[in-house]
Amino acid sequence: MRAVTAYLGLGSNVGDRERHIRDALTQLGQVPGVSVVAVSTLRETEPVGGPPQGAFLNGAAEVSTTLPAAALLAICKQLESDAGRDLNAPRNHPRTLDLDILLFGDMRIDARDFRVPHPRLMERPFVLEPLAELGVDCDAIDIPSRPAVIRSAEEFAALNTEWLSGGCVTGLVPTMGALHEGHASLLRIARGECDRVAATIFVNPLQFGPGEDLERYPRDLDKDLEVLRSEDVDAVYAPAAAAMYPDGFCSELDVGEEARELEGASRPGHFRGVVTVVAKLFALARPTIAYFGRKDAQQVAVLRRMVADLDFPLRVRECPTLREPDGLAMSSRNAYLEAEDRLAATALYRGLDAARQRHRAGEGDADALRRAALEIIEAEPRVELEYLELRRDGDLGPLPPGPVADGRLLVAARVGNARLIDNISLLEPAD
Ligand code: AMP
Repeated sequence: MRAVTAYLGLGSNVGDRERHIRDALTQLGQVPGVSVVAVSTLRETEPVGGPPQGAFLNGAAEVSTTLPAAALLAICKQLESDAGRDLNAPRNHPRTLDLDILLFGDMRIDARDFRVPHPRLMERPFVLEPLAELGVDCDAIDIPSRPAVIRSAEEFAALNTEWLSGGCVTGLVPTMGALHEGHASLLRIARGECDRVAATIFVNPLQFGPGEDLERYPRDLDKDLEVLRSEDVDAVYAPAAAAMYPDGFCSELDVGEEARELEGASRPGHFRGVVTVVAKLFALARPTIAYFGRKDAQQVAVLRRMVADLDFPLRVRECPTLREPDGLAMSSRNAYLEAEDRLAATALYRGLDAARQRHRAGEGDADALRRAALEIIEAEPRVELEYLELRRDGDLGPLPPGPVADGRLLVAARVGNARLIDNISLLEPAD
């Protein structure tokens, strides 16, 4: 292999810091196929994140190597371990030695624990300054922006293939954009569980019926990118409708009877559109885990069924509903509410909560529980109820006969310009 110029970040904040770094460089230079060409000055740096700890000594080294990047990484890890570093310690903990591959020629690597160029390079003066000292033109380094904004199916599939072949656990968070705190909570859960997180933003025409709000659905990609950036999302797939459904598109998935009730009855064709687009997203992303909100409980039930029926090898993760302080479930459609309708809309949650309180107080009659919610919702003249149903939790089938032990109460209503849905479990603690 031809020699490649690589740059390493050097750091230590435990024990004889300079010795740890110098010894590692000496040993590195003795590895066949590696020579240390230049070393920057070492500088004192305050630690970033992690528990309280001593200052770092940081610098950078230029090496020339005929080894592949993965082999150089393995050597760096071995040197860290030889210096007494606990490689299983949490991120940002004190360490005897830190050797990061910052750059490896002009190669781009996106594997599980190995990204080159180092993704946080540009945020770290204690890396940039020593690199500049070694003659690297840091402004010319092409670090992919995060999240990567992807418009084409091929590109999204290729990125996911790269992640999967790098051994990553990948998370997919499908959305229609106009992101709010509810979406952010899904992204946060995904970030905590996955090596790579992709969101999708697509206002899917297939799941909107005639006369619904497809045209006026809020769209603001720039604002959404801010949310995605602050939740540390790796990529967002935001295709145009013509890229998702090119001319000649004619294959759709269908759903069974269960998906023709509740939302399926109010919005004929809605779930056909949902399963079709989500199946397409799964085919491209092949996520390990797909994240959906319980706010759309029937959507989760329908998608779980689809995943089981069609053998998608992934896990559907249902995440709790985020609410405004007055109980209204967060929704992109809340933006349609005028001030008075916004107040009236709280009747939905107040109604659901009243039924839950009655159940908690010992009421086991399904009609009585439903009436408890109805009394509150119907007292609000601005709310036009579409359905209010008590169902079995999970698959949302009919409740078994006899006293109600458990269940999920689901509601849909028009309030002013908005059609809103919500649901709660009778067993969920009051929030
Ligand atoms: P949407 O953009 O409305 O299609 O929603 C995208 C995902 O976010 C879906 O899985 C929703 O269930 C979820 N979601 C929407 N609103 C909330 C909320 N208030 N709390 C938690 N998840 C939500």
